[in-house]
Amino acid sequence: MPGRAANTITRRDFLNGVPLAVGGAVAGGLLPGANAPGLAAETAPQDASGYYPPALTGLRGSQPGAFEAAHRLRDGDFWPQAGAIKQTTETYDLIVVGGGISGLAAAHFWRRQHAGARILILDNHDDFGGHAKRNEFALRDRLELVNGGTLMIDSPKPYSAVADGLLKALGIDPVALSKKCWHRDFYASLGLRRGIFLDKETFGADHLIVAADGTSWARRLAQSPLSPQARKDIARIEEARIDYMPGLTSDDKKRRLAKMSYRDFLLHVVKADPGVIAFYQARTHGEWGVGIDAVSALDVWAFDFPGFQGLDLKPGAVPGQGITAAGYAEDGGSYRFHFPDGNASIARLLVRDLIAEAVPGESAEDVVTARVDYAKLDRAASPVRIRLSSTAVRVRNVGDPASAREVEIAYARGGDVFSVRGTACVLACWNMIVPYLCPELPEPQKQALHYGVKTPLIYTNVALRNWRAFKALGVSQVHAPGAYFSSVSLNFVVDIGDYGSPRSPDEPMLIRMVRTPCAPGLPERDQHRAGHYDILNTGFAAFEHNIRDQLGRILKAGGFDAANDITAITVNRWPHGYAYEYNPLFDPDWPDGQAPNVVGRARFGRIAIANSDAGAAAYTDSAIDQAYRAVQELTQA
Ligand SMILES: Cc1cc2nc3c(=O)[nH]c(=O)nc-3n(C[C@H](O)[C@H](O)[C@H](O)COP(=O)(O)OP(=O)(O)OC[C@H]3O[C@@H](n4cnc5c(N)ncnc54)[C@H](O)[C@@H]3O)c2cc1C
Repeated sequence: MPGRAANTITRRDFLNGVPLAVGGAVAGGLLPGANAPGLAAETAPQDASGYYPPALTGLRGSQPGAFEAAHRLRDGDFWPQAGAIKQTTETYDLIVVGGGISGLAAAHFWRRQHAGARILILDNHDDFGGHAKRNEFALRDRLELVNGGTLMIDSPKPYSAVADGLLKALGIDPVALSKKCWHRDFYASLGLRRGIFLDKETFGADHLIVAADGTSWARRLAQSPLSPQARKDIARIEEARIDYMPGLTSDDKKRRLAKMSYRDFLLHVVKADPGVIAFYQARTHGEWGVGIDAVSALDVWAFDFPGFQGLDLKPGAVPGQGITAAGYAEDGGSYRFHFPDGNASIARLLVRDLIAEAVPGESAEDVVTARVDYAKLDRAASPVRIRLSSTAVRVRNVGDPASAREVEIAYARGGDVFSVRGTACVLACWNMIVPYLCPELPEPQKQALHYGVKTPLIYTNVALRNWRAFKALGVSQVHAPGAYFSSVSLNFVVDIGDYGSPRSPDEPMLIRMVRTPCAPGLPERDQHRAGHYDILNTGFAAFEHNIRDQLGRILKAGGFDAANDITAITVNRWPHGYAYEYNPLFDPDWPDGQAPNVVGRARFGRIAIANSDAGAAAYTDSAIDQAYRAVQELTQA
């Protein structure tokens, strides 16, 4: 298997020795350019006129240039090739590694407790926001926005007082904005529905299923290439109210469902024909990043999957069952709101809160069309600085962690390595890189940080000259269970501030195509590792080919012409996407306080650990809650 598993012991051991030598060089004062405060910032691309990453197309997300230094660090190749560290004279009250929502929120919480604090935020990407990034397109001279990663404010549990308080402090009222700005029923009002595309490679013939609500499944599937038995069993799964587990209480059923995959539920409990599996296999991709072989039946029940209608399962978690989506879903979830750029608007509001002059405007509505001035993100005169394209490569307490009063962070940028000092550090980066940054951490903590494997996803945004083909076919979104991209959907319709979504099928439109590469049959974490490999070994040309091929085949009968109708493509690769959430099929029920995310996030001297990984929950509210906890740990230490 590719990825980190191959290098967990030998390469880390190798890495352990190298920074010491480099540290010795620092102490020995052998560093050229050591006395140049702001050295890194003055030569930075982000200061150049016209620097504006949201408008870039092609390969985005983890863009080329963002991850190479981190991968070399993992592989033990970084320090042998690194030049001497350039020690700046910059010092800060807080240094944050990771400019996602967790890192930006950590800076916000720190400043609330320490007025006037000087903060440096480092991020390896060419844009801030972490997963919460936006893609901008100019279509017929009109600004069109879409999320490059994080889709919306939406969590399976209500936002905590801390996370909700942060939204309020930023001027976001999700309930009011949702009512005023988000036109969720627009496509339905045009008669557009969800379709299902069966591809010939998986099902024997290309076939698009589109049917009015209330159409029986027998009719929906009548012309499909599925076998008669598979069609019959899908109709039974979708419509019949059968108790497939008679004689058991609701809790007993749920305990069993938690430990069986949805695939096994369909095959062995519902006793469906094996031909139904391909039809449902990818339905879990968007939420979990793996297919129904690796998601528990209980989790999908909580997300209203079919087949459970007759089981009479009571809402909520199962006593003693650990974390499952069923447990999460019991409170009814959080409020929901989609900014036109997803939660990138939250990141932009946080940056406005930290560096007001970089993000003009004053409301959660006007931030949507505000043009960020990247040259103002890293100014020496500003108490808060955001330094992009900067990969932290070493983070250590100066002296004994138990009594340290200072931290030193080395980061790679543009072929050089710089070092800065601060009184505290929040690591709001990804868990799996932390052991490489801080090799001095206790071994059990490093192992715990390595446990979770983030879910890989590809959010592809495609600009179309018009969307007449969708209108002609009567679809606004299509699930494609066997195809390269498992979903295709028209952009959400949101009008906010000066921003308005297109309404006419003759106007240009952005569509989303989602792919979550995985390896069915393997345990979830191994499937994610295979997905990382798939993403990083697929070039833009292959993505483009699949986009053209798939759209051409799905929309052919609607008159779609890929050669003429596609005007731009942005492929947002997130090999390290969702935080790993424990899976009852593969992970033990750890005793309280012993889950890897809890062991892994322990404060280490003046270094605290945030990020949604620390909450083992792939949601924005988790990123915020973990930032708050990390800041509290440092301020109370
Ligand atoms: C495609 C996608 C869709 C999602 N949709 C939703 C949604 O609809 N709703 C929702 O609530 N949540 C969603 N999530 C999850 C949500 O985005 C995250 O939980 C949250 O944004 C994570 O924020 P974070 O700051 O913890 O981590 P990140 O956003 O990952 O930010 C961490 C940053 O640290 C950087 N970093 C890592 N190592 C280093 C280093 N050594 N030096 C410098 N920087 C480093 C990373 O590159 C990254 O930029 C989605 C996630 C993905 C990937």
